[in-house]
Amino acid sequence: MTIRHKLRLWWRGHWLWVCIALLAAVSVILPAVYLAGLEENTRRYLVAMNVASLPWGLANTLVFVGFLYLLQFGGGFARFRKVRINSEAVRVRFTDVVGLGQAKREAWEVVQLLRDRRRLNSIGGHILRGVLMSGPPGCGKTLLAKAIAAEAGVPFLSVSGAEFVEVFVGVGAARVRKLFRQARDYAAAYGACIIFIDEIEVIGRTRILHDAFGGGAETNSTQNQLLLELDGLSGGGDNIVVIGATNAREDILDPALLRPGRFDRKIFVGRPNLAERELLFGYYLGKIKRDPQLDVARLARKAVGKTPAEIENVVREAALIAARGKKDFATMRDMTSAIERIELGVEHRLSLTPREREMTAWHEAGHVLALYLTHPANDVFKVSIRQRGGALGVVHSMPREEIHSADRDTLLAHIRVSLGGYAAEQLRYGVTTEGVGLDFAAAMELAHKMVWRLGMGDSALAGDYPVIPETQLSESVKQKLNEDTQRIISGQLAQVQKLLREERPAAEALVRELLAREELDFDEIADVMLKCGKPPRVMQPAAEPASSESGARIPAGN
Ligand code: ZN
Repeated sequence: MTIRHKLRLWWRGHWLWVCIALLAAVSVILPAVYLAGLEENTRRYLVAMNVASLPWGLANTLVFVGFLYLLQFGGGFARFRKVRINSEAVRVRFTDVVGLGQAKREAWEVVQLLRDRRRLNSIGGHILRGVLMSGPPGCGKTLLAKAIAAEAGVPFLSVSGAEFVEVFVGVGAARVRKLFRQARDYAAAYGACIIFIDEIEVIGRTRILHDAFGGGAETNSTQNQLLLELDGLSGGGDNIVVIGATNAREDILDPALLRPGRFDRKIFVGRPNLAERELLFGYYLGKIKRDPQLDVARLARKAVGKTPAEIENVVREAALIAARGKKDFATMRDMTSAIERIELGVEHRLSLTPREREMTAWHEAGHVLALYLTHPANDVFKVSIRQRGGALGVVHSMPREEIHSADRDTLLAHIRVSLGGYAAEQLRYGVTTEGVGLDFAAAMELAHKMVWRLGMGDSALAGDYPVIPETQLSESVKQKLNEDTQRIISGQLAQVQKLLREERPAAEALVRELLAREELDFDEIADVMLKCGKPPRVMQPAAEPASSESGARIPAGN
């Protein structure tokens, strides 16, 4: 049974070569036999004629092939182009997928279903048809899909949604048909098969009924074909699982795709949490030479919100920096400068006047003091007055732990920190610079959101006001909301001003250090603060609830 299917699969891939080989053999043997029966002179004559006409024949062939090429690639006859379906031998195991705890547990179920397909089929059930993986780019969706295929020991066909996009209506649909036909062949030969469609939102976005230029018709027909093929899988014995991956929000996809029996199983592949980032750093750092003292836990804390791909990038960049510095291994310093280079761009040297430089130092010191002394949730990781990417200085801060929903105190603290630069310039010089523009924009936006949308203003107006059309909001309501917004700004500004007045010695010490060293990291800031009598703010590892390892059994190694 399977041998016949494997033969058929081989024939599908090689029939052209077999035909060519046969033809070549015939065209050599027949003339040889024929010539052997002729007279010596005639034979010489014929062979000479053929050899003489060879260049001419070659020229003809070249012209012909040239025209064919033009037709295919220049003339828009994209119909000839093949869909690039990769049926690679995947060797990604679950142990190679690091730091995707929850997603891995869910994917493991799919693997088990695929492994138990025989029992499942005999009971009369069929394995699930569609799995939708969603999440931000670079979080390992493709890797996870490959791992599912490898662990289940089934072929893996991968294709990108963009490959189905064509100008001509029907071409995309034909490709979908072909993809599923091929998958059926593979499934018949190997028992099951996985189709992985990356960027499924390209063909899966909500269908348009009509638009002015007839656009969308092609997408619609492609998607209809996909739905048809998905429904066709219900026949039972096919054992084909379609895994779609998307970076977009789920609501961009057509509801028909998400209906039961289609992409009804969802796996969210999100950004790794602290513990997972630590694993990821450990994994990628294992591939390079690194300082044995390097504090992986602290590194993971610094990389809040980074995806696995970004973490890999940081480690690679750090190795480059270490190599350029002619060091034997990468240190913590290399890691932090790699993160900064990726996030903030390469340093530029602008020629600042001493006064500008000093003002920048005061500005940044204002941010740092507000952050260090009053922020409940964020730590300042680094402050710098080196110029990067157009900014004169920067304060690098990060949440102590992943906060998914900030409270009012935290939001007010964000505003205070934003206003710290302005307050410091004002305190020291009496005048301020245009460097406060972006800070103000950030503070304003946040205060506006707090009052207009989150019900955090002083007056009792609570609600998401932008939902209501502006014409239906009474002037008095608008005025009250705007007053609330301004009250938040001025209240926080007053607090920062008071803080800086009281802590002026600390601010001056900080500015001195900044001017001398240009960059201070957390420990150095803490030193300065300690000398000014400020209690140390311990950078504790964020306490994180250990993820429960209940449920599916997953291979160890992660
Ligand atoms: Zn600023």
